[in-house]
Amino acid sequence: MLKDSQGKVGFPLPGPDHCLLRGEMLEATRVQELPGRAQGACSRFQNACSMVALVTGSTSGIGWAILKALAVRGHDVMLCGMIHPEGLALLQGELSSLGVRHSFSQHDLRRTSEVEAMIEQTERELGEIDILVNNAGVQHVAPVEELSPEKWDDLLALHLSAAFHTIRMVLPGMKRKGWGRILNVASAHGKVASVHKAAYVAAKHGLVGLTRVVALETARTGVTCNALCPGWVLTPLVQAQIERRQAEEGVSEEAARHDLLAEKQPSLRFVEPEKLAELVLFLCGPGGNSITGAALSVDGGWTAQ
Ligand code: NAD
Repeated sequence: MLKDSQGKVGFPLPGPDHCLLRGEMLEATRVQELPGRAQGACSRFQNACSMVALVTGSTSGIGWAILKALAVRGHDVMLCGMIHPEGLALLQGELSSLGVRHSFSQHDLRRTSEVEAMIEQTERELGEIDILVNNAGVQHVAPVEELSPEKWDDLLALHLSAAFHTIRMVLPGMKRKGWGRILNVASAHGKVASVHKAAYVAAKHGLVGLTRVVALETARTGVTCNALCPGWVLTPLVQAQIERRQAEEGVSEEAARHDLLAEKQPSLRFVEPEKLAELVLFLCGPGGNSITGAALSVDGGWTAQ
């Protein structure tokens, strides 16, 4: 139920004055949960609830699942990433069918100026960002002495520096409105290490550290900042590792998948991207109001070992 700071119950019209109530509004966007007389006012109400969400790396895998879930929830979304035109048309078609405002940004987030251009484009085309998900990523596997300085720089720029830049740019608006959600997609590798992933592990540990600092600095502002730490999720990023293992070990794809899971993930099941998206929705709702600075494992037991 919606209540303002004086305890008054109501169904606010869209507008900046109502931003403080946005967290509570989210929960009530499920029409069935609204009291009878409110159901008629629902479309007006949903306009008031709609927020602007940006998910980096949302043209694929985990990012797409999160972006789509936010769009299903009625939020306006900025699709970001590297994708060929036919694939893009499919994703845009799905978003259009959901009836939300959406746009697309293709920027190389290894460069500061490109990160800035992505945020500026989002604000210009959709409005100020309420929900920021830093998710774009790649993997590179090599022993530390064979890891090129260029790969090191690329991975740190994409996984860590890009998140710093998006956060520093969206925070003033979130603080002014008294509400914001920042989700950083880290990894089990934000908590523990594996061989041959020096840059990735360093960047993900750094991202968890950045998450904690931002959470402390925003603790009294209505903004929360959390890290998601998935284990293995079957996306193109992991498929490439399965294929490498298949080639190196001369085994079938099925055997390579099994070995990959058996090495790290006690559940022996891949985490589904949709499950991560459900967690994001929860953190964006009122249930997430007091969860900040957390590094939330969704890893089938990987880091419990
Ligand atoms: P994916 O390959 O399916 O998607 C990666 C996304 O990042 C794509 O949209 C791609 O276009 C974008 N991207 C890549 N390089 C970019 C660049 N230079 N500039 C802008 N965008 C770029 O990968 P995924 O598995 O969905 O991974 C998403 C995030 O989840 C990554 O940060 C990854 O480290 C993390 N993660 C993945 C797993 C897993 O098992 N798949 C586990 C833990 C954490």
